[in-house]
Amino acid sequence: MPDEDKTDQTTSFSEDETRRMERVLDDTEYDTELGVEMAKDAQRVAAGELGEAEFYRQYHEDILEEFGEDDRELNGLLDDVGNVDAGDGEGVGDKLQALADEKDLSRREVMKKGGAAVAALSIFASAGENRAASAEGEGGDEYDGTRWGMTINLNNCDGCLACMVACDQEHKLSGGANWMYVFTYEDDHQDDENFLVRPCQHCTDSPCTKVCPVGARHTREQDGLVLTDYEICIGCRYCEVSCPYGVNYFQWGEPDHPQSEIPESQSQDERGRWVGARPPEGVMGKCTFCVDRQDGKMGDDKIGTTACEEACAMDAIHFGDLNDPESAPNTHLEQYKDEQENDMTFQNRKEHTVSTFQLMEERGTDPNVRYVGNEPSQDAEQVEGPVSYEDVGLVDDRKEEVLDNGAMANQEGGEEA
Ligand code: SF4
Ligand code: SF4
Ligand code: SF4
Repeated sequence: MPDEDKTDQTTSFSEDETRRMERVLDDTEYDTELGVEMAKDAQRVAAGELGEAEFYRQYHEDILEEFGEDDRELNGLLDDVGNVDAGDGEGVGDKLQALADEKDLSRREVMKKGGAAVAALSIFASAGENRAASAEGEGGDEYDGTRWGMTINLNNCDGCLACMVACDQEHKLSGGANWMYVFTYEDDHQDDENFLVRPCQHCTDSPCTKVCPVGARHTREQDGLVLTDYEICIGCRYCEVSCPYGVNYFQWGEPDHPQSEIPESQSQDERGRWVGARPPEGVMGKCTFCVDRQDGKMGDDKIGTTACEEACAMDAIHFGDLNDPESAPNTHLEQYKDEQENDMTFQNRKEHTVSTFQLMEERGTDPNVRYVGNEPSQDAEQVEGPVSYEDVGLVDDRKEEVLDNGAMANQEGGEEA
């Protein structure tokens, strides 16, 4: 099992949180201790407290033993290893590239094919130390082309739950599996009633993809979507416990809506991976940023839109390509900032701060969802909203939960879909 001594790490997990993870994983046939330790360390990797390569090396043997394969995502690992000197003055990245060119493969494929052998090499020990240096140089977008994302203006939300209903209907979700979630909460630090609109954050540095032993949870290279390949997922739930945002829903039983209700065209993306609509029994699901729309499966006019955005009459949800300065999420954010600037008088200019945030930014996951409004504080408490879930035909397994660390994360419930 992994080393216990990690004295320089700062991301900590309460006993309650650990117990919650254990309870989730005890319901599976897979190793609970391995899943909990990996979930914690994957979050430490995202927070920059543990090297990606060290993380990969540390769990490689245990994963092989438990699952018979180690097909974890290698994105971050390639960054780490690519920056390491192979010991002869040449970078490991250059060596990998040369090998890839020779075999007409991508660097990722070379790593996958040689993963077990490469993991045994000493370069992994030094790769972890190089992470901080390489991370400093990253900073920008990982996706040169499209990077789907959202700006959600919480000031506009009135808690009507239309986004949840639209998502539920379009993806044929089972009762209780709410890929979109709207929390109403009270907070000592904010006025009146507040809302947090929370889809999957499609994190740039996602803990959930780091822990999936079979490579089902993955980041799609061309547009940054974090998706689950339903045909590969074995239902170990490691992704669920590693996610700091609590957005995963395990499909326990037969889905409420049979496969025959889902158009054939929505099953697979162009890579042949089944990633759209609701998952089948025994498989993990979560918000896909409406991948079928983005892939043109629902018509060209739906590309760059989502069901939740379309349903929101309050102009709270803005979806689009974050790499395009003219996209809806970018223009909305800029417009908000401009309005705030113009509203400021000379006297209050100094004190004023524009309130935009990424959820749990300190976790280092770099979400592709940005918020306008106030982030819930640790004192936030979930309360009944203006519209009840029952009123709009939704099942809510999370309403008794307590807000945690501003993200309504790390909670139980919603699993019985
Ligand atoms: S919010 Fe989404 S992408 Fe981020 S860790 Fe959770 S499931 Fe993964
Ligand atoms: S996607 Fe499936 S196989 Fe991968 S970690 Fe999640 S539950 Fe396990
Ligand atoms: S983006 Fe699509 S999948 Fe995600 S919450 Fe909105 S409607 Fe649901």
